[in-house]
Amino acid sequence: MHAYHLNEPRFRPFPLGAVQPTGWLRNQLRVQADGISGHLDEFWPDVRDSQWFGGDAEAWERAPYWLDGFIPLAFLLDDPALKARAAAHVEYVLVHQDDDGWLGPRTMIAASGRAASAHYDIWAQLLATKALVQYHDATGDERALRALDRTLRMLDRHLDRVPLFNWGQFRWFEGLIGIFWLYERTGEQWLLDLAVKLHAQGFHWRDFYARWPLAEPTPKGQWTYMGHVVNNAMALKAGALWWRLSSDPADRAAPYDMIAKLDRFHGMVTGVFSGDECIAGRRPTHGTELCAVVELAFSLEALLSLLGDPAFGDRLEQVVYNALPATFSPDMWSHQYDQQVNQVECSVRGDRLWSTNGPESNIFGVEPNYGCCTANLSQGWPKFAAHLWMHAEPDTLAAIAYAPSRVEAQIRGVPVHATLETDYPFRDELRFTISPQRPVRFSLLLRIPAWASEALMSVADEDPVRATPGTFARIEREWDSTTEVTLLLRMPTRVSRGYRGAVAIERGPLVYALRIGEDWRRIHREAPYRQPPHSDWEVYPTTPWNYALHLDPAAPDRDVEFLERPVGGCPFSPEGAPVIAKVHGRRVPAWQMENGSAADVPSSPVASSEPLQQLELIPYGCTSLRITEFPLLQRVRGRRTD
Ligand SMILES: [Zn+2]
Repeated sequence: MHAYHLNEPRFRPFPLGAVQPTGWLRNQLRVQADGISGHLDEFWPDVRDSQWFGGDAEAWERAPYWLDGFIPLAFLLDDPALKARAAAHVEYVLVHQDDDGWLGPRTMIAASGRAASAHYDIWAQLLATKALVQYHDATGDERALRALDRTLRMLDRHLDRVPLFNWGQFRWFEGLIGIFWLYERTGEQWLLDLAVKLHAQGFHWRDFYARWPLAEPTPKGQWTYMGHVVNNAMALKAGALWWRLSSDPADRAAPYDMIAKLDRFHGMVTGVFSGDECIAGRRPTHGTELCAVVELAFSLEALLSLLGDPAFGDRLEQVVYNALPATFSPDMWSHQYDQQVNQVECSVRGDRLWSTNGPESNIFGVEPNYGCCTANLSQGWPKFAAHLWMHAEPDTLAAIAYAPSRVEAQIRGVPVHATLETDYPFRDELRFTISPQRPVRFSLLLRIPAWASEALMSVADEDPVRATPGTFARIEREWDSTTEVTLLLRMPTRVSRGYRGAVAIERGPLVYALRIGEDWRRIHREAPYRQPPHSDWEVYPTTPWNYALHLDPAAPDRDVEFLERPVGGCPFSPEGAPVIAKVHGRRVPAWQMENGSAADVPSSPVASSEPLQQLELIPYGCTSLRITEFPLLQRVRGRRTD
């Protein structure tokens, strides 16, 4: 009767807990656990008193958003207290699942024009299914699987009466994650029928992009579901997820089409695209919502799994190593709603560029502008850590993104322990050890980033070999006892061009930005839930920022000098920056502030008679104030200024 089956993804993620962060990444997860993410259920009403957990506060997406990140945080840190809290919250949700399968409260949004209480938007249900899958992976608790089964059966019936609308319509594909996961465990065909139903009722992102009308920045004041930056970030994986069922090559191609168009019209040097809150063009003073950053990272993790293209790994690191840490205070107690690539003042003011976001969108705080990011920010680092390694049957282990970590794998029935020791992305050397419990033949795949000018790979004491950038290098052999593999990724300085021809400096996976002195001023001092350590802050510059760079874009290695500093306990902070880039520039007095932001970058090249100064750039992720896209200084013929 049924013709469908599921196509195999190129790589499979390991169950939650098999990949463990080590080194600086483990430390970063600890910072997160000690910051707002690890404490939301203790002080923030929207999670602490959530109706999902028996309280009387928010009843929509915030508790499941938080669980979707807090569960992997707790289990990756293997912290008994965090795991106990995650379990207690999941327990409440499981025990209180409605007889018809509905999870949590009957929430928030009824179909427009219909008052009947049964007409609910199912987005929060889809979101909760993702958290249940992770919880089952981490604990093996069969009740989570049964709860997922009951929820999906409820949705199957629900959609016959109430077709998708609003958030559920634009995020329908998030449901495929739990549906496919359960299908692979039960083989029940109704699950694939449900997937077909969701697709048929959901927004067709691939068709929309094929005739895409959103090349222009969203006009001020306009808000649409299809231009919504978070919806777009989530939807990048829609085509590839759906391809598992459709087998249509055009569905596999859809993410490439979407990324190319978003980059061209809305792309930022950090790998994200603008959206404040709908997609907003390439001006580096437009904002990008934190939810879009973490959802983009998760979409790229899914795309790496589904399609196996190493380019998605390059992009994932670009987002996670730049846009993600930059939008938090170094202690991860406060965050922004919108970050700017050129961000010289974070303050409350109503005259900003944002298309629809509010006056508080770029301050650092507990819930600036709106509380979605406060809950959803939790998934960024933990899911990245959980997806560093993947595998493919029967005999492939793949390192798809790089950070210090270890993984416990089973390959051809043999337990294999693999580790990666490194200070990447701040250093260029990666040291792997592969230790099978007994000799076993398999392939180790190492992602070679496209930006590498040279990649040297050595196995045990064999001579190093060159690997090809932009591919997965394959080491196939019989692995015995413990084998060391080292990979050296040469990182040339790169210059990319942005809005109005501005230049940005990149090296390896890191983007570099001007270090600006920061004056943090606490605001909302009287407000409840804004008391230290969870406070709201404006940040004002204490040093100049209006520089043009002395740089030859064709040979930037001559003009930029990189200095290494120790990788300490808080690498993503101005003081802790593990790499400093020295470059020269002159101030451009005409380039001033406008509406609380740097005015548009003057068109390059610019002339300046101000003195030539040495400037310090640090990794974008270490900054809270910064200039990242600079004008280029006019070169004086016959006279090098350095
Ligand atoms: Zn958000």
